[in-house]
Amino acid sequence: MSEVGSIVGELAEIVGAANALNGTDATEDYGHDEALATAPVQPAYVVRPANAAEVAGVVKLALAHGLPVTARGSGSGLCGACRPSANGIVVSFERMNAVLEIDVDNQVAVVQPGVTLSELDTAAGAAGLTYPVSPGELSASLGGTIATNAGGMRAVRYGVTRNHVIGLQAVLGTGETISSGGRIAKISSGYDLTQLIIGSEGTLALVTEAIVKLQPKPAASQTVLAPFADLDAVIGAIPKIIASGVAPSILEYIDALTMAAITYLTKLSLGIPDSVRDSAQAYLVVQLENREQSRAEEDTERVGELLGELGAIDVYVLDGNPAHKLIEAREHAFWTAKTAGAHEIVDIVVPRQAMPEFFRSVRGLVERTGSGSGVAGCGHAGDGNVHLGVFQADPAIRERLVHGMCQLGVSLGGAISGEHGIGREKKPHFLALEDPVKLDLMRRIKTAFDPAGILNPGVLFDPLD
Ligand SMILES: Cc1cc2nc3c(=O)[nH]c(=O)nc-3n(C[C@H](O)[C@H](O)[C@H](O)COP(=O)(O)OP(=O)(O)OC[C@H]3O[C@@H](n4cnc5c(N)ncnc54)[C@H](O)[C@@H]3O)c2cc1C
Repeated sequence: MSEVGSIVGELAEIVGAANALNGTDATEDYGHDEALATAPVQPAYVVRPANAAEVAGVVKLALAHGLPVTARGSGSGLCGACRPSANGIVVSFERMNAVLEIDVDNQVAVVQPGVTLSELDTAAGAAGLTYPVSPGELSASLGGTIATNAGGMRAVRYGVTRNHVIGLQAVLGTGETISSGGRIAKISSGYDLTQLIIGSEGTLALVTEAIVKLQPKPAASQTVLAPFADLDAVIGAIPKIIASGVAPSILEYIDALTMAAITYLTKLSLGIPDSVRDSAQAYLVVQLENREQSRAEEDTERVGELLGELGAIDVYVLDGNPAHKLIEAREHAFWTAKTAGAHEIVDIVVPRQAMPEFFRSVRGLVERTGSGSGVAGCGHAGDGNVHLGVFQADPAIRERLVHGMCQLGVSLGGAISGEHGIGREKKPHFLALEDPVKLDLMRRIKTAFDPAGILNPGVLFDPLD
Protein backbone atom coordinates (compact mmCIF):
# COMPACT_ATOMS: atom_id res chain seq x y z
CA MET A 1 0.00 0.00 0.00
CA SER A 2 1.32 3.45 -0.95
CA GLU A 3 1.92 5.86 1.93
CA VAL A 4 1.65 9.68 1.86
CA GLY A 5 5.01 11.12 0.73
CA SER A 6 6.14 7.69 -0.44
CA ILE A 7 7.83 7.40 -3.83
CA VAL A 8 6.83 3.75 -4.17
CA GLY A 9 4.45 4.63 -7.01
CA GLU A 10 7.25 6.32 -8.97
CA LEU A 11 9.52 3.32 -8.34
CA ALA A 12 6.73 1.01 -9.51
CA GLU A 13 6.58 2.90 -12.80
CA ILE A 14 10.21 1.92 -13.37
CA VAL A 15 10.39 -1.69 -12.07
CA GLY A 16 6.73 -2.74 -11.95
CA ALA A 17 4.41 -2.72 -8.93
CA ALA A 18 5.39 -6.25 -7.83
CA ASN A 19 9.02 -5.19 -7.59
CA ALA A 20 8.74 -1.86 -5.76
CA LEU A 21 8.06 -2.18 -2.06
CA ASN A 22 7.83 0.11 0.90
CA GLY A 23 10.46 -1.05 3.41
CA THR A 24 7.71 -1.89 5.88
CA ASP A 25 6.30 -4.41 3.38
CA ALA A 26 9.70 -6.03 2.67
CA THR A 27 11.24 -8.88 4.67
CA GLU A 28 13.80 -7.91 7.27
CA ASP A 29 16.49 -9.69 5.22
CA TYR A 30 16.99 -6.46 3.24
CA GLY A 31 18.11 -4.65 6.39
CA HIS A 32 21.33 -6.52 7.10
CA ASP A 33 24.13 -8.78 5.92
CA GLU A 34 25.98 -11.38 8.02
CA ALA A 35 28.26 -8.91 9.86
CA LEU A 36 28.10 -9.74 13.56
CA ALA A 37 28.48 -6.25 15.00
CA THR A 38 26.36 -4.13 12.64
CA ALA A 39 22.76 -3.62 13.73
CA PRO A 40 20.09 -4.10 11.01
CA VAL A 41 18.23 -1.09 9.60
CA GLN A 42 15.09 -1.52 7.50
CA PRO A 43 15.27 0.68 4.37
CA ALA A 44 12.44 2.95 3.23
CA TYR A 45 12.13 1.11 -0.12
CA VAL A 46 13.21 -2.10 -1.80
CA VAL A 47 13.29 -2.45 -5.59
CA ARG A 48 14.08 -5.49 -7.71
CA PRO A 49 15.02 -4.25 -11.18
CA ALA A 50 15.13 -6.57 -14.20
CA ASN A 51 17.78 -4.81 -16.30
CA ALA A 52 20.36 -2.01 -16.46
CA ALA A 53 17.84 0.53 -17.80
CA GLU A 54 15.63 -0.01 -14.74
CA VAL A 55 18.64 0.32 -12.43
CA ALA A 56 19.54 3.62 -14.11
CA GLY A 57 15.92 4.79 -13.78
CA VAL A 58 15.92 4.03 -10.05
CA VAL A 59 19.22 5.87 -9.52
CA LYS A 60 17.94 8.94 -11.43
CA LEU A 61 14.79 8.96 -9.31
CA ALA A 62 16.84 8.60 -6.11
CA LEU A 63 19.00 11.51 -7.26
CA ALA A 64 15.96 13.66 -7.89
CA HIS A 65 14.67 12.96 -4.37
CA GLY A 66 18.11 13.00 -2.71
CA LEU A 67 17.68 9.44 -1.40
CA PRO A 68 20.49 6.99 -0.57
CA VAL A 69 20.83 3.86 -2.74
CA THR A 70 22.32 0.60 -1.46
CA ALA A 71 23.02 -2.30 -3.83
CA ARG A 72 22.30 -5.74 -2.48
CA GLY A 73 23.48 -9.10 -3.80
CA SER A 74 22.93 -12.11 -1.55
CA GLY A 75 23.56 -10.28 1.74
CA SER A 76 26.35 -12.68 2.74
CA GLY A 77 28.87 -9.88 3.35
CA LEU A 78 30.70 -9.76 6.67
CA CYS A 79 31.26 -6.02 7.20
CA GLY A 80 27.84 -4.37 7.02
CA ALA A 81 28.47 -3.04 3.50
CA CYS A 82 24.94 -3.71 2.22
CA ARG A 83 23.23 -2.49 5.37
CA PRO A 84 21.06 0.29 3.98
CA SER A 85 20.17 3.76 5.27
CA ALA A 86 16.78 4.09 6.97
CA ASN A 87 15.58 6.66 4.40
CA GLY A 88 17.15 4.82 1.48
CA ILE A 89 16.38 2.48 -1.41
CA VAL A 90 17.76 -1.05 -1.52
CA VAL A 91 18.41 -2.14 -5.11
CA SER A 92 18.29 -5.92 -4.91
CA PHE A 93 19.79 -7.76 -7.87
CA GLU A 94 17.92 -11.00 -7.26
CA ARG A 95 16.02 -10.81 -10.59
CA MET A 96 19.13 -9.97 -12.62
CA ASN A 97 20.41 -13.50 -12.22
CA ALA A 98 21.14 -14.81 -15.73
CA VAL A 99 24.38 -16.32 -16.96
CA LEU A 100 24.18 -14.57 -20.32
CA GLU A 101 26.95 -16.50 -22.04
CA ILE A 102 29.72 -19.02 -21.47
CA ASP A 103 32.15 -18.08 -24.21
CA VAL A 104 34.36 -21.17 -24.46
CA ASP A 105 36.78 -19.82 -27.07
CA ASN A 106 37.56 -16.67 -25.10
CA GLN A 107 37.25 -18.57 -21.77
CA VAL A 108 34.96 -15.94 -20.27
CA ALA A 109 31.47 -15.78 -18.83
CA VAL A 110 29.12 -12.84 -19.26
CA VAL A 111 26.87 -12.61 -16.22
CA GLN A 112 24.26 -10.45 -14.60
CA PRO A 113 25.19 -9.34 -11.06
CA GLY A 114 22.61 -11.46 -9.23
CA VAL A 115 24.11 -14.76 -10.47
CA THR A 116 25.51 -16.70 -7.52
CA LEU A 117 28.97 -18.24 -7.49
CA SER A 118 27.49 -21.71 -7.39
CA GLU A 119 25.20 -20.96 -10.38
CA LEU A 120 28.17 -19.66 -12.36
CA ASP A 121 30.29 -22.66 -11.46
CA THR A 122 27.53 -25.04 -12.58
CA ALA A 123 27.14 -23.23 -15.91
CA ALA A 124 30.92 -23.07 -16.47
CA GLY A 125 31.35 -26.70 -15.35
CA ALA A 126 29.07 -27.88 -18.15
CA ALA A 127 31.73 -26.58 -20.56
CA GLY A 128 34.62 -28.11 -18.57
CA LEU A 129 35.50 -24.69 -17.15
CA THR A 130 35.46 -23.16 -13.68
CA TYR A 131 35.35 -19.73 -12.05
CA PRO A 132 38.00 -20.30 -9.41
CA VAL A 133 37.15 -17.42 -7.05
CA SER A 134 35.68 -19.22 -4.09
CA PRO A 135 34.84 -17.29 -0.94
CA GLY A 136 33.35 -19.62 1.67
CA GLU A 137 29.77 -18.67 0.84
CA LEU A 138 28.84 -19.91 -2.61
CA SER A 139 25.42 -18.25 -2.43
CA ALA A 140 27.28 -14.90 -2.75
CA SER A 141 26.41 -13.00 -5.93
CA LEU A 142 28.84 -11.97 -8.63
CA GLY A 143 27.88 -8.32 -8.03
CA GLY A 144 28.59 -8.61 -4.31
CA THR A 145 31.89 -10.43 -4.81
CA ILE A 146 32.96 -7.78 -7.32
CA ALA A 147 32.00 -4.97 -4.95
CA THR A 148 33.99 -6.53 -2.08
CA ASN A 149 36.82 -7.95 -4.21
CA ALA A 150 36.15 -11.29 -2.57
CA GLY A 151 38.97 -13.78 -2.18
CA GLY A 152 38.57 -17.12 -0.45
CA MET A 153 40.65 -20.24 -0.01
CA ARG A 154 41.73 -20.70 -3.61
CA ALA A 155 43.15 -17.19 -3.98
CA VAL A 156 46.59 -18.49 -3.03
CA ARG A 157 46.81 -20.11 -6.46
CA TYR A 158 44.19 -18.46 -8.64
CA GLY A 159 43.99 -14.91 -7.27
CA VAL A 160 41.04 -12.83 -6.05
CA THR A 161 38.02 -11.35 -7.84
CA ARG A 162 40.15 -8.44 -9.10
CA ASN A 163 42.25 -10.89 -11.10
CA HIS A 164 39.23 -12.36 -12.89
CA VAL A 165 36.93 -9.47 -13.81
CA ILE A 166 37.86 -8.03 -17.19
CA GLY A 167 34.78 -6.05 -18.09
CA LEU A 168 31.89 -4.30 -16.41
CA GLN A 169 28.71 -2.45 -17.21
CA ALA A 170 27.75 -0.14 -14.37
CA VAL A 171 25.38 2.68 -13.44
CA LEU A 172 27.06 5.70 -11.81
CA GLY A 173 25.59 7.89 -9.08
CA THR A 174 24.55 10.31 -11.83
CA GLY A 175 22.33 7.64 -13.42
CA GLU A 176 24.69 7.39 -16.41
CA THR A 177 25.64 3.89 -17.62
CA ILE A 178 29.20 2.99 -18.61
CA SER A 179 30.93 -0.08 -20.03
CA SER A 180 34.58 -0.74 -19.25
CA GLY A 181 37.02 -3.43 -20.42
CA GLY A 182 35.67 -6.32 -22.49
CA ARG A 183 36.46 -9.87 -23.64
CA ILE A 184 40.06 -8.84 -24.09
CA ALA A 185 43.19 -10.15 -22.45
CA LYS A 186 44.81 -6.74 -21.99
CA ILE A 187 44.03 -3.06 -22.18
CA SER A 188 46.19 0.04 -21.93
CA SER A 189 43.78 2.80 -22.79
CA GLY A 190 43.29 5.32 -20.04
CA TYR A 191 42.33 4.82 -16.42
CA ASP A 192 41.15 1.32 -15.51
CA LEU A 193 37.59 1.97 -14.37
CA THR A 194 36.89 -1.76 -14.03
CA GLN A 195 39.54 -2.06 -11.35
CA LEU A 196 38.35 1.12 -9.62
CA ILE A 197 34.80 -0.21 -9.31
CA ILE A 198 35.99 -3.63 -8.04
CA GLY A 199 36.18 -3.45 -4.24
CA SER A 200 34.31 -0.14 -4.03
CA GLU A 201 31.45 -1.67 -1.98
CA GLY A 202 28.65 -0.11 -3.99
CA THR A 203 29.90 3.43 -3.29
CA LEU A 204 30.99 4.31 -6.86
CA ALA A 205 28.58 2.48 -9.16
CA LEU A 206 26.01 -0.30 -9.39
CA VAL A 207 27.32 -3.21 -11.45
CA THR A 208 24.72 -4.38 -13.97
CA GLU A 209 26.79 -6.87 -15.99
CA ALA A 210 30.25 -8.44 -15.74
CA ILE A 211 32.68 -10.32 -17.94
CA VAL A 212 34.80 -12.74 -15.92
CA LYS A 213 37.65 -15.04 -16.85
CA LEU A 214 37.16 -18.80 -16.59
CA GLN A 215 39.74 -21.57 -16.41
CA PRO A 216 39.84 -25.25 -17.34
CA LYS A 217 38.53 -27.32 -14.44
CA PRO A 218 41.38 -29.36 -12.90
CA ALA A 219 40.61 -33.09 -13.09
CA ALA A 220 42.57 -34.25 -10.06
CA SER A 221 43.00 -33.01 -6.52
CA GLN A 222 44.59 -34.28 -3.31
CA THR A 223 44.24 -32.87 0.21
CA VAL A 224 46.85 -33.08 2.95
CA LEU A 225 46.25 -32.32 6.63
CA ALA A 226 49.18 -31.68 8.95
CA PRO A 227 48.85 -31.08 12.70
CA PHE A 228 51.61 -29.01 14.33
CA ALA A 229 52.52 -28.61 17.99
CA ASP A 230 52.63 -24.83 17.71
CA LEU A 231 51.13 -22.12 15.54
CA ASP A 232 54.50 -20.50 14.80
CA ALA A 233 55.72 -23.73 13.17
CA VAL A 234 52.60 -23.82 10.97
CA ILE A 235 53.07 -20.26 9.86
CA GLY A 236 56.81 -20.82 9.37
CA ALA A 237 56.05 -23.72 7.01
CA ILE A 238 53.99 -21.61 4.61
CA PRO A 239 56.74 -19.73 2.72
CA LYS A 240 58.65 -23.00 2.31
CA ILE A 241 55.66 -24.76 0.76
CA ILE A 242 55.13 -21.87 -1.62
CA ALA A 243 58.84 -21.75 -2.48
CA SER A 244 58.77 -25.49 -3.30
CA GLY A 245 56.91 -24.64 -6.52
CA VAL A 246 53.98 -27.05 -6.03
CA ALA A 247 51.46 -24.17 -6.27
CA PRO A 248 48.82 -25.36 -3.77
CA SER A 249 45.25 -24.39 -4.59
CA ILE A 250 44.43 -24.21 -0.88
CA LEU A 251 46.86 -23.42 1.95
CA GLU A 252 44.91 -22.80 5.13
CA TYR A 253 45.76 -22.80 8.81
CA ILE A 254 43.14 -23.74 11.39
CA ASP A 255 43.86 -23.32 15.11
CA ALA A 256 43.15 -26.27 17.42
CA LEU A 257 40.09 -24.68 19.02
CA THR A 258 38.50 -23.92 15.65
CA MET A 259 39.35 -27.39 14.30
CA ALA A 260 37.73 -29.00 17.35
CA ALA A 261 34.61 -26.84 16.87
CA ILE A 262 34.20 -27.35 13.11
CA THR A 263 34.75 -31.11 13.27
CA TYR A 264 32.40 -31.45 16.26
CA LEU A 265 29.63 -29.39 14.67
CA THR A 266 29.89 -31.15 11.29
CA LYS A 267 30.37 -34.61 12.88
CA LEU A 268 33.53 -34.97 10.82
CA SER A 269 35.97 -37.72 11.79
CA LEU A 270 39.44 -37.23 10.32
CA GLY A 271 40.93 -40.39 11.80
CA ILE A 272 43.56 -38.49 13.79
CA PRO A 273 44.65 -40.37 16.96
CA ASP A 274 43.77 -38.68 20.28
CA SER A 275 47.47 -38.39 21.22
CA VAL A 276 48.16 -36.33 18.06
CA ARG A 277 45.02 -34.25 18.47
CA ASP A 278 45.89 -33.50 22.09
CA SER A 279 49.32 -32.13 21.25
CA ALA A 280 48.25 -30.21 18.12
CA GLN A 281 48.00 -26.43 18.49
CA ALA A 282 47.19 -25.79 14.84
CA TYR A 283 46.70 -27.52 11.51
CA LEU A 284 47.72 -26.84 7.96
CA VAL A 285 45.41 -27.90 5.13
CA VAL A 286 47.02 -28.13 1.72
CA GLN A 287 45.13 -28.94 -1.47
CA LEU A 288 46.96 -29.75 -4.67
CA GLU A 289 45.21 -29.69 -8.02
CA ASN A 290 46.38 -30.87 -11.40
CA ARG A 291 44.99 -31.94 -14.72
CA GLU A 292 46.52 -35.41 -14.15
CA GLN A 293 46.10 -37.60 -11.06
CA SER A 294 49.72 -38.83 -11.14
CA ARG A 295 51.03 -35.24 -11.00
CA ALA A 296 48.72 -34.34 -8.11
CA GLU A 297 50.02 -37.43 -6.28
CA GLU A 298 53.65 -36.47 -7.00
CA ASP A 299 53.03 -32.99 -5.55
CA THR A 300 51.29 -34.53 -2.54
CA GLU A 301 54.30 -36.71 -1.82
CA ARG A 302 56.62 -33.72 -2.08
CA VAL A 303 54.45 -31.62 0.25
CA GLY A 304 54.14 -34.54 2.71
CA GLU A 305 57.94 -34.87 2.92
CA LEU A 306 58.34 -31.13 3.31
CA LEU A 307 55.74 -30.90 6.09
CA GLY A 308 57.54 -33.70 7.95
CA GLU A 309 60.84 -31.80 7.65
CA LEU A 310 59.13 -28.59 8.81
CA GLY A 311 57.96 -30.10 12.09
CA ALA A 312 54.45 -31.50 11.45
CA ILE A 313 53.52 -34.06 14.11
CA ASP A 314 52.18 -36.27 11.33
CA VAL A 315 50.84 -35.92 7.80
CA TYR A 316 47.49 -37.30 6.59
CA VAL A 317 46.39 -37.57 2.98
CA LEU A 318 42.61 -37.32 3.09
CA ASP A 319 40.42 -39.32 0.72
CA GLY A 320 37.72 -37.67 -1.37
CA ASN A 321 34.88 -37.52 1.13
CA PRO A 322 36.71 -36.44 4.33
CA ALA A 323 38.77 -34.01 2.23
CA HIS A 324 35.64 -32.49 0.73
CA LYS A 325 33.93 -32.34 4.12
CA LEU A 326 36.95 -30.71 5.79
CA ILE A 327 37.14 -28.01 3.11
CA GLU A 328 33.41 -27.45 3.42
CA ALA A 329 33.64 -27.29 7.23
CA ARG A 330 36.48 -24.78 6.93
CA GLU A 331 34.40 -22.71 4.49
CA HIS A 332 31.67 -22.60 7.11
CA ALA A 333 33.99 -21.71 10.00
CA PHE A 334 32.19 -18.36 10.18
CA TRP A 335 28.95 -20.09 11.21
CA THR A 336 30.90 -22.10 13.80
CA ALA A 337 32.36 -18.90 15.26
CA LYS A 338 28.88 -17.34 15.28
CA THR A 339 27.39 -20.40 17.01
CA ALA A 340 30.21 -20.27 19.56
CA GLY A 341 29.21 -16.69 20.38
CA ALA A 342 31.86 -14.62 18.53
CA HIS A 343 31.01 -10.91 18.64
CA GLU A 344 32.99 -9.79 15.61
CA ILE A 345 35.15 -11.23 12.83
CA VAL A 346 38.34 -9.62 11.57
CA ASP A 347 40.14 -10.47 8.31
CA ILE A 348 43.35 -8.52 8.65
CA VAL A 349 46.01 -9.24 6.02
CA VAL A 350 49.76 -9.02 6.62
CA PRO A 351 52.80 -10.03 4.59
CA ARG A 352 53.19 -13.80 4.97
CA GLN A 353 56.50 -13.58 6.79
CA ALA A 354 54.96 -11.21 9.38
CA MET A 355 52.27 -13.68 10.46
CA PRO A 356 54.21 -15.16 13.44
CA GLU A 357 54.86 -11.65 14.77
CA PHE A 358 51.22 -10.72 14.20
CA PHE A 359 49.98 -13.73 16.18
CA ARG A 360 52.48 -13.17 19.01
CA SER A 361 51.46 -9.51 19.33
CA VAL A 362 47.72 -10.32 19.13
CA ARG A 363 48.18 -12.77 22.02
CA GLY A 364 49.82 -9.94 23.99
CA LEU A 365 47.01 -7.54 23.08
CA VAL A 366 44.34 -10.00 24.20
CA GLU A 367 46.12 -10.61 27.51
CA ARG A 368 46.50 -6.88 28.14
CA THR A 369 42.84 -6.27 27.23
CA GLY A 370 41.75 -8.87 29.80
CA SER A 371 38.06 -8.84 30.79
CA GLY A 372 37.48 -12.30 29.34
CA SER A 373 38.52 -11.33 25.79
CA GLY A 374 39.46 -14.13 23.43
CA VAL A 375 40.32 -14.71 19.78
CA ALA A 376 40.30 -17.94 17.76
CA GLY A 377 40.19 -18.74 14.12
CA CYS A 378 41.69 -19.88 10.90
CA GLY A 379 42.77 -18.17 7.74
CA HIS A 380 44.09 -18.07 4.25
CA ALA A 381 47.64 -18.63 5.45
CA GLY A 382 49.11 -18.60 1.96
CA ASP A 383 47.81 -15.04 1.55
CA GLY A 384 48.72 -13.81 5.05
CA ASN A 385 44.98 -13.30 5.58
CA VAL A 386 43.98 -13.99 9.17
CA HIS A 387 40.33 -14.68 10.07
CA LEU A 388 39.80 -14.34 13.79
CA GLY A 389 36.59 -14.52 15.76
CA VAL A 390 36.74 -11.90 18.51
CA PHE A 391 34.95 -12.84 21.73
CA GLN A 392 34.23 -9.80 23.90
CA ALA A 393 30.67 -8.78 24.71
CA ASP A 394 31.52 -5.23 25.85
CA PRO A 395 31.44 -3.08 22.68
CA ALA A 396 33.89 -0.47 24.00
CA ILE A 397 36.50 -3.03 25.08
CA ARG A 398 36.02 -4.96 21.83
CA GLU A 399 36.42 -1.78 19.77
CA ARG A 400 39.77 -1.10 21.51
CA LEU A 401 40.92 -4.68 20.97
CA VAL A 402 39.92 -4.77 17.28
CA HIS A 403 41.49 -1.35 16.76
CA GLY A 404 44.72 -2.59 18.32
CA MET A 405 44.68 -5.61 15.99
CA CYS A 406 44.04 -3.41 12.93
CA GLN A 407 46.80 -1.02 14.00
CA LEU A 408 49.17 -3.93 14.41
CA GLY A 409 48.29 -5.31 10.96
CA VAL A 410 48.86 -1.93 9.33
CA SER A 411 52.15 -1.40 11.21
CA LEU A 412 53.40 -4.74 9.85
CA GLY A 413 52.77 -3.58 6.28
CA GLY A 414 49.29 -5.08 6.01
CA ALA A 415 45.72 -3.85 5.76
CA ILE A 416 42.53 -3.87 7.83
CA SER A 417 40.69 -6.18 5.44
CA GLY A 418 42.10 -8.68 2.98
CA GLU A 419 38.78 -9.64 1.41
CA HIS A 420 35.65 -8.92 3.46
CA GLY A 421 35.82 -5.16 2.93
CA ILE A 422 35.44 -2.15 5.21
CA GLY A 423 31.67 -1.62 5.10
CA ARG A 424 30.24 0.06 8.16
CA GLU A 425 31.85 -2.25 10.68
CA LYS A 426 35.53 -1.57 10.00
CA LYS A 427 35.03 2.06 8.94
CA PRO A 428 36.22 3.69 12.20
CA HIS A 429 39.48 1.73 12.01
CA PHE A 430 39.89 2.47 8.29
CA LEU A 431 39.33 6.22 8.72
CA ALA A 432 41.67 6.37 11.72
CA LEU A 433 44.51 4.29 10.28
CA GLU A 434 44.54 5.01 6.54
CA ASP A 435 46.82 7.73 5.13
CA PRO A 436 44.74 10.99 5.16
CA VAL A 437 46.10 11.98 1.74
CA LYS A 438 44.84 8.70 0.27
CA LEU A 439 41.49 9.05 2.04
CA ASP A 440 41.09 12.50 0.58
CA LEU A 441 41.93 11.23 -2.92
CA MET A 442 39.44 8.38 -2.50
CA ARG A 443 36.75 10.90 -1.48
CA ARG A 444 37.51 12.96 -4.62
CA ILE A 445 37.21 9.81 -6.76
CA LYS A 446 33.88 9.04 -5.07
CA THR A 447 32.67 12.54 -5.89
CA ALA A 448 33.56 12.05 -9.56
CA PHE A 449 31.44 8.87 -9.78
CA ASP A 450 28.72 9.97 -7.40
CA PRO A 451 28.64 13.79 -7.05
CA ALA A 452 25.56 13.84 -4.80
CA GLY A 453 26.90 11.09 -2.52
CA ILE A 454 23.78 8.90 -2.87
CA LEU A 455 25.55 5.56 -3.42
CA ASN A 456 25.84 3.61 -0.17
CA PRO A 457 26.51 6.61 2.12
CA GLY A 458 27.95 5.57 5.48
CA VAL A 459 29.98 2.76 3.90
CA LEU A 460 33.76 3.35 3.69
CA PHE A 461 33.22 7.05 4.49
CA ASP A 462 30.81 8.98 6.64
CA PRO A 463 28.00 10.48 4.53
CA LEU A 464 28.80 13.77 2.76
CA ASP A 465 27.72 16.80 4.76
C1 LIG B 1 30.08 -18.46 5.73
C2 LIG B 1 30.73 -17.32 5.01
C3 LIG B 1 32.01 -17.48 4.55
C4 LIG B 1 32.63 -16.43 3.84
N1 LIG B 1 33.90 -16.62 3.38
C5 LIG B 1 34.48 -15.64 2.66
C6 LIG B 1 35.80 -15.83 2.15
O1 LIG B 1 36.45 -16.85 2.34
N2 LIG B 1 36.32 -14.83 1.40
C7 LIG B 1 35.64 -13.67 1.14
O2 LIG B 1 36.16 -12.81 0.43
N3 LIG B 1 34.41 -13.45 1.65
C8 LIG B 1 33.82 -14.41 2.39
N4 LIG B 1 32.57 -14.20 2.90
C9 LIG B 1 31.92 -12.89 2.72
C10 LIG B 1 30.93 -12.78 1.53
O3 LIG B 1 30.53 -13.99 1.03
C11 LIG B 1 31.53 -11.91 0.47
O4 LIG B 1 31.75 -10.63 1.00
C12 LIG B 1 30.68 -11.75 -0.80
O5 LIG B 1 31.49 -11.08 -1.71
C13 LIG B 1 29.39 -10.96 -0.62
O6 LIG B 1 28.55 -11.19 -1.74
P1 LIG B 1 26.99 -10.86 -1.63
O7 LIG B 1 26.37 -11.11 -2.94
O8 LIG B 1 26.41 -11.59 -0.49
O9 LIG B 1 27.07 -9.30 -1.36
P2 LIG B 1 26.24 -8.42 -0.35
O10 LIG B 1 26.53 -8.82 1.05
O11 LIG B 1 24.82 -8.39 -0.77
O12 LIG B 1 26.90 -7.00 -0.63
C14 LIG B 1 28.27 -6.78 -0.42
C15 LIG B 1 28.66 -5.42 -0.99
O13 LIG B 1 28.49 -5.46 -2.39
C16 LIG B 1 27.65 -4.38 -2.82
N5 LIG B 1 26.95 -4.86 -4.00
C17 LIG B 1 26.19 -5.97 -4.14
N6 LIG B 1 25.78 -6.09 -5.40
C18 LIG B 1 26.28 -5.04 -6.08
C19 LIG B 1 26.21 -4.60 -7.42
N7 LIG B 1 25.54 -5.27 -8.35
N8 LIG B 1 26.84 -3.45 -7.75
C20 LIG B 1 27.53 -2.74 -6.85
N9 LIG B 1 27.64 -3.12 -5.57
C21 LIG B 1 27.03 -4.26 -5.20
C22 LIG B 1 26.78 -4.09 -1.62
O14 LIG B 1 26.27 -2.77 -1.65
C23 LIG B 1 27.80 -4.27 -0.51
O15 LIG B 1 28.59 -3.11 -0.44
C24 LIG B 1 31.94 -15.22 3.62
C25 LIG B 1 30.63 -15.07 4.11
C26 LIG B 1 30.03 -16.10 4.79
C27 LIG B 1 28.63 -15.91 5.30
